Amino acid sequence: MISWLFPKIIGGKNEREVNRIRPTVSRINEIEEAFQQKPAGVLLEMTSAWQTHLARYHALDVPTKAQIETMDDAGLQTTAEALEKRFSTLRREFSALPSKVAATAESIEAAKAAFHQIEPRFAKARSIYLEKILPEAYAVVKNAARRLNGSEAEIGGRTETWRMVHFDVQLIGGIALHRGMIAEMQTGEGKTLVATLPVYLNALTGLGVHVVTVNDYLAKRDSEWMGVLFRSLGLSIGCVVNNMQPWERREAYHCDITYGTNSEFGFDYLRDNGMASTKEEQVQRGHYLAVIDEVDSILIDEARTPLIITGAATRSSHQFDTLRQSVEQLVKKQTELCNRLAAEAEKQLSAGDHAAAGLTLLKLKLGQPRNRRFLRFLEIPELRRLLDKTELAYQKSSFGKDIHKLKEELYFAIDEKAHDADLMEKGRRFLSPSDPDSFTIPDTAAQLAAIQTDTASTSEEKATARGALREQMDGQAAKIHGISQLLKAYCLYEKDVHYVVAEGKITIIDESTGREMAGRRWSDGLHQAVEAKERVSIEKESRTYATITLQNYFRLYDKLAGMTGTAETEAAEFHDIYQLDVLPIPTNTPNIRIDENDRIFKTRREKYNAVVERIAAAHATGQPVLVGTASVESSETLSRLLQRAKIPHTVLNAKFHEQEAEIVALAGQRGAVTVSTNMAGRGTDIKLGEGVAELGGLFVIGTERHPSRRVDRQLRGRCSRQGDPGLSRFFISLEDDLMRHHAAPDRMASLIEKSDGTTLKSASLGTLVETAQKQVEQRDYKTRKRVLDFDDVMNLQREIVYGYRNEVLTTEDTRKLVHEIIAESVPEGVREHLADCDPYDPDYGPLLRWAQSTFPISIAAEYLTAINAEKISAMMVKAVRDAYELRVNGLPAEVLEQEERRMVLAAIDNEWQEHLGEMDELREGVYLRAQGQKDPLVEYKNEAYGLFVTLMDTIRRDALHHLFRSAAGLGAFLAQLQNQSQNKEAR
Ligand code: ADP
Ligand code: MG
Repeated sequence: MISWLFPKIIGGKNEREVNRIRPTVSRINEIEEAFQQKPAGVLLEMTSAWQTHLARYHALDVPTKAQIETMDDAGLQTTAEALEKRFSTLRREFSALPSKVAATAESIEAAKAAFHQIEPRFAKARSIYLEKILPEAYAVVKNAARRLNGSEAEIGGRTETWRMVHFDVQLIGGIALHRGMIAEMQTGEGKTLVATLPVYLNALTGLGVHVVTVNDYLAKRDSEWMGVLFRSLGLSIGCVVNNMQPWERREAYHCDITYGTNSEFGFDYLRDNGMASTKEEQVQRGHYLAVIDEVDSILIDEARTPLIITGAATRSSHQFDTLRQSVEQLVKKQTELCNRLAAEAEKQLSAGDHAAAGLTLLKLKLGQPRNRRFLRFLEIPELRRLLDKTELAYQKSSFGKDIHKLKEELYFAIDEKAHDADLMEKGRRFLSPSDPDSFTIPDTAAQLAAIQTDTASTSEEKATARGALREQMDGQAAKIHGISQLLKAYCLYEKDVHYVVAEGKITIIDESTGREMAGRRWSDGLHQAVEAKERVSIEKESRTYATITLQNYFRLYDKLAGMTGTAETEAAEFHDIYQLDVLPIPTNTPNIRIDENDRIFKTRREKYNAVVERIAAAHATGQPVLVGTASVESSETLSRLLQRAKIPHTVLNAKFHEQEAEIVALAGQRGAVTVSTNMAGRGTDIKLGEGVAELGGLFVIGTERHPSRRVDRQLRGRCSRQGDPGLSRFFISLEDDLMRHHAAPDRMASLIEKSDGTTLKSASLGTLVETAQKQVEQRDYKTRKRVLDFDDVMNLQREIVYGYRNEVLTTEDTRKLVHEIIAESVPEGVREHLADCDPYDPDYGPLLRWAQSTFPISIAAEYLTAINAEKISAMMVKAVRDAYELRVNGLPAEVLEQEERRMVLAAIDNEWQEHLGEMDELREGVYLRAQGQKDPLVEYKNEAYGLFVTLMDTIRRDALHHLFRSAAGLGAFLAQLQNQSQNKEAR
């Protein structure tokens, strides 16, 4: 009952939301109509008036404290006047501002402070104002679009004519975006134009609006295309793409509007905050609003792997090179074994011993799920059924104990579905005949207990023993982890399917698009394992300079909004992770696409035959067909079959976005047959050729259900844009990966049993598919959530470190910074060196030696008469500060300031990068330690906290160490210079 009501209520809620927006739409249209009678200049005037009003909320651009202190009267006068001018525009709203700014250093500093007091209230004031002008501003954009009608522009090297004025539904979408929602609008509804509305409105603030696209090609296309509109309104527009110089990027970010891909934006952020060594090197200027196009693709599909910047490292921490040989041998052994099993299965089958054959097949599946001979067996429906039955029986038997027994006959067991590899006893013995235990994690609990209760050893000896045990365990854990990753690399990751090897590098292929994901790496050592397998240089030397997940990158923005044709199925995730609500917007004209029921086949072969037949039939009438496949591999299979059937077609393999767009754009022409991976060509418009509408429009065929329903919807949506006719149908088989891995095997088996012939008709099969998809969606969400849970720990730390780093970059007073570091670091050192001191017979030796070697200062021991850490600290802080001042005395202020900044930055970067490596190791470690029923995330959080405290302390110490040394070096260098010039003069 409730489940029947539920969708209705949801549907109703969305409708109500849309209806609430409609009055604003009418208002926009009224205003726009009035604009039609006015000269074009009005739009520019209104734009600039709004900009002026909003510019009052910009940050202050005034000289630094140090600059003001050394300013002459004229300079003070100008500065005071500038402040006075700004304040006069703000006083009515913010009465706390001083009534007068005088031309004195004190008055100017006081005015700055007063401004900083009111600054936090600007965000709200700004958003109230934007809300107020929204109808007028949207009308301005719409009217500007109208005035452009018929005008020509150069877009991507082609001359295009502007023929767009915002439809009402586009205005609704634009309002939803400004409200921070995801506007779900079907393909072809004109989302590119929709975005111009909130982008224009928010760009008036001058804070910079980012528009995020799925690839460089679309970023360029859209910025050129929509740039025509924005420029006509006096706004500046930029675009960041791959291979741009920093100064070009900087320029693009300083425009009112910046287009680019998620990775460009994300990597620029990482470079700005993790690597830039001066303020001038930073290219971005903040994160105000991001409008994300194809938001599901970016925030969900792309968000699976984090952005990472790596560089050369100083140490290596893995052993894939050494492990590779053994694992290769092991895999060879297993292949031999599996080939024997395959021969055995054949014999058992011809002898009619089905029970035995089922068992052998199951062993094969566990041993090598991608074994060629095994896959050939599976093409026979009866054998597949036999396998499913056997597996089911085994899974049910006493909690899988029997399955474990089967696995013990193998060297290792592969779980294709869970993406897991397990080394078995037989494999352990093969790898290390003399000591198979070196591949098991020792039972430390028992050993720890034994150490603890050993009465013969002292507490110190016990601690040493515990340390040794832990070290041994960590070493073994790392080895086991490495082997497991290598096994996966060998048995589950196929070249040209999951990755490509080019120029000595492994590049991941996105399975659903076939697209290479440059710069991404698999985590947890899997990438190195694949590198070892392919014998390219293992990026062991790589050191993580900076990393962030896309989730946490986009959370940096004050405001987020997104649009796509397919968001509803993932609404929960958008809400939980990004606080984005999804609002489905009605189409401009009713959608008349016909979605036919799936056709379901037992085998892949039968399915493909039917697909080719259906394509041939459509093609004979001239109706264009777009065939979506789930992987590059199946695109190729289908292409071969079409060739054999002599059907001319185009295959889209998603290597070059631009070509891809051109091909997809032609997919609606009469007689076109286009085979493409599911997601290829996203964002490109498919217009119908002449006479095609009469033939029924574009026919979309899906050759497989994608694990995510969203991607299927995306594919269907490629036809029937803007009221065009169109047809869609999926062809699936029980051998598709989705069905093999996720559909309930017992139910599938019984359905097959009941049916005859090759086509299966059953309503429950449809449900089976949907259930399988939901299952995968949920699992994938969990995985993403898990990655995020771990990154959240790191994110907190990153925010603190990047925040501090930026402070160092921008501070007006580096000396104050040095003093702060001394004030925090010295007491820490004092505490540490006095911790083990005997209060009745204190030994100050270590403390004195430490002070001498770090700063260096020498302290007369007679000062240290009592252990009062606080007093000693206070005295030492002062002594260290004095020592520093003495060192730098007489050095030119500007050089010194630069040097101080540089030293502290170097300490931060070096230690932070080191820390990132440790965090990586920790993450691997906690997974293995999780054996003791501990939640790895909790373990990770606790230990990460400890590491972080140490990190901050180490940064300060490092910085001090360098500061003192560089000051000395600088002094000596300058003295030398002076000597030289004096000598010259003397001569
Ligand atoms: P989406 O991103 O929603 O799939 P696009 O932004 O690519 O759609 O636009 C699809 C097509 O619709 C483009 O050819 C565009 O020129 C056209 N279009 C968009 N808005 C309008 C409009 N208001 N009037 C006429 N054509 C429009
Ligand atoms: Mg689009």
